[in-house]
Amino acid sequence: GGDAWTDYAPHLDAAIAEEGLDARLVTATDAPGEIDYIIYAPDSGLRDFAPYTRLKAVMSLWAGVESIVDTPSLTVPLCRMVDPGLTEGMVEWVTGHVLRHHLGMDRHILGQDGVWRNEVVPPLARHRPVGLLGLGALGAAVGRALVGLGFPVHGWSRSAKRLDGITCRHGADGLAATLAEAQILVSLLPATAATDGLLDADALALLPKGAVFINPGRGSVVDDAALLAALDAGRMDHATLDVFRTEPLPADHPFWAHPRVTVTPHIASATRPDTAAQSVIANIANHERGAPLAHQVDRSAGY
Ligand code: NDP
Repeated sequence: GGDAWTDYAPHLDAAIAEEGLDARLVTATDAPGEIDYIIYAPDSGLRDFAPYTRLKAVMSLWAGVESIVDTPSLTVPLCRMVDPGLTEGMVEWVTGHVLRHHLGMDRHILGQDGVWRNEVVPPLARHRPVGLLGLGALGAAVGRALVGLGFPVHGWSRSAKRLDGITCRHGADGLAATLAEAQILVSLLPATAATDGLLDADALALLPKGAVFINPGRGSVVDDAALLAALDAGRMDHATLDVFRTEPLPADHPFWAHPRVTVTPHIASATRPDTAAQSVIANIANHERGAPLAHQVDRSAGY
């Protein structure tokens, strides 16, 4: 419904025609008993899936599904958004913010005062290890881009992984080893019970002194008070945060005014209607031809 309908309907209709899918686009509130697939915007407010008696799957337009993964009436498969446009946007946002901190760009952008200071030579990327929490659709693409720029990348995920050029670790020991290397730490973890508060005071204490944290994943992963304490104590240099426990971030939250925190308003990357419509319709069309649905959420893991 709403904006999602206006943004997506023309692209979905075009993708349906392109795939040769025998389907018709209707709003989800029209004749629920006749709907096979719901293409779902989590901010639509729809939470009761019981009226959709012939539903085969729910296709989320968002990559993060924490707001609906536990919905009791949602008993059919739930698919996350994996969209090339979303991935490209995230790669661009993360590399931009990594390079900002790596090169110390603020020094010259914010400190222009008529004094010629050329004494600081930043290390090369190959001498700046980056830690990457989450090696999924987004994390793996971000890791590839950072490796391409020369950064040593230490990645961490739930299951064991092999990714070209990335040191991949998992488990509690793997997390500790990843944090210990991470001069710049990027989180692309989902919000789940297991990731809630993962970056607490003990975890943040494992980072090298002067580390930078960049969080475009989910705000629940970090303990805000522990992060502020590490920044205030000078143990960490900066945090660039795109996601928060409460969004919009309340105007009186200490992150806004903190000199070592950059707040961006959950804009790291957006699902792009043109590419996303193609991905969703291709997934539905393949499923109608008998293939398993791609990008299914594992309800027990919560992502
Ligand atoms: P995926 O599900 O593809 O990847 C999630 C990654 O996190 C996987 O590597 C997974 O491990 C790992 N992971 C999950 N739980 C744990 C755990 N308990 N311990 C260790 N690793 C864990 O998701 P995406 O890459 O597509 O997206 C990641 C998140 O990015 C989304 O959930 C969303 O919250 C956020 N996002 C933010 C946006 C923004 O604009 N700020 C835009 C889009 C997404 P494994 O590989 O073993 O499964």
